[in-house]
Amino acid sequence: MSNITVTHADSGLVSVEVLRRERITPHMTRVTFGGPALAQFTYRGFDQWFRLAIAVHDDDRFDNLPRTFGIGGYLKYLTLPKGTRPVIRSYTVREFRAETLEMDVDFLVHGDNGIAGPWAAQVEPGTTAAFIDQGCGWKPVPAEWTLLVADESGLPAIAAILRDMPRDARGHALIELYDCADQQVLEAPDGMQVHWLERAPGTDPGTTLLPVLAGLDFLPGDVYAFAVGESAVATGARRHLVRERGIPKQNVTFAGYWKVGRAAG
Ligand SMILES: Cc1cc2nc3c(=O)[nH]c(=O)nc-3n(C[C@H](O)[C@H](O)[C@H](O)COP(=O)(O)OP(=O)(O)OC[C@H]3O[C@@H](n4cnc5c(N)ncnc54)[C@H](O)[C@@H]3O)c2cc1C
Repeated sequence: MSNITVTHADSGLVSVEVLRRERITPHMTRVTFGGPALAQFTYRGFDQWFRLAIAVHDDDRFDNLPRTFGIGGYLKYLTLPKGTRPVIRSYTVREFRAETLEMDVDFLVHGDNGIAGPWAAQVEPGTTAAFIDQGCGWKPVPAEWTLLVADESGLPAIAAILRDMPRDARGHALIELYDCADQQVLEAPDGMQVHWLERAPGTDPGTTLLPVLAGLDFLPGDVYAFAVGESAVATGARRHLVRERGIPKQNVTFAGYWKVGRAAG
C-alpha cells in the first residue's frame, strides 16, 4: 500500500551501463551506472525513485519500453513479447553526479530469491540496463518536525532525504535493519536524531521498529512523517500515527517497498 503519487520529470526512458559494483556493507551493494543518456535525466534528490529494467533473457530489449510508467506505460509494457521483455523493479537514486554523469543505486542483497537483488550482487561493468524516472514520494507539509521510518530497503531513501532536507530540520529517523552492520554514515541535520534498530533473528520486519515508534516521545507541534519499507512497516507506522497519535492522514507519506514472501510486479 502507498499514498505516494508519481511525479516523474520528462526524462523518458534512460539507457545506462554499469560502471562498477561495490559491496558497501554486508547486505548492501552499490551499483554505479553511467552513460551519456544520463544527461537527459532530471535529478531531484530526496527519495527520487525509478523503474529499473533488467535483462533476464538473451533477447531482452530496452528500446521499446514505455517512456513513462503510469498505468498506460505499464499496460504497454505488458503487451511486449515475454521473451524480450526485461524485468522491472523499483529503486532509489542514492547519489547522482551531474559532472561525471554517474548514478549510485544501493541494492539490498536479500539472498538468492528474486531478480534485482541477485543481479546487483554479481553484475559486471559493461552490463546495460534502462530506467524510467518516477519522481519523489517525499512531499512535506508545513510542520514543526519530521519523522522518518524505514527498514533496510528504505535506507537509500532516508539517507538521501536526510542529506537534502533543510539543515535546521528537527525530528527523529527510525531505521530498522536486519543486521546492524549495514549502518551507513548519514549526512543528517544536527536536529535529526537517528535511531538504528536491529531486528531479532527470524522475526518479521517492523517487530522491533513499531514498538519503538509506539513508545517514542514526540516533539511538540505538528509533524510530517515519511514511512517506507516492508509493507507491515509502512502500513503499521501509518496506522499508529493516524489512529493512536491523531496525526492527519495528509501529514503521513507511506509506501510499502516490498512484501515478505511476494515478488514485486
Ligand atoms: C519506491 C521504491 C523504492 C525502492 N528503493 C529501493 C532501494 O533503493 N534499494 C533496495 O534495496 N530496495 C528498494 N526498493 C525495494 C525493492 O524494489 C524490492 O525489494 C524488490 O522486491 C526487489 O526485487 P527482487 O527482484 O530482488 O525481489 P522480488 O522478485 O521482488 O522478490 C523475491 C523474494 O524476495 C523477497 N524480498 C524482496 N525484497 C526484499 C528485501 N528488501 N528484503 C528481504 N526480502 C526481500 C520477496 O518477499 C520475495 O519473497 C524500493 C521499492 C520501491 C517501491
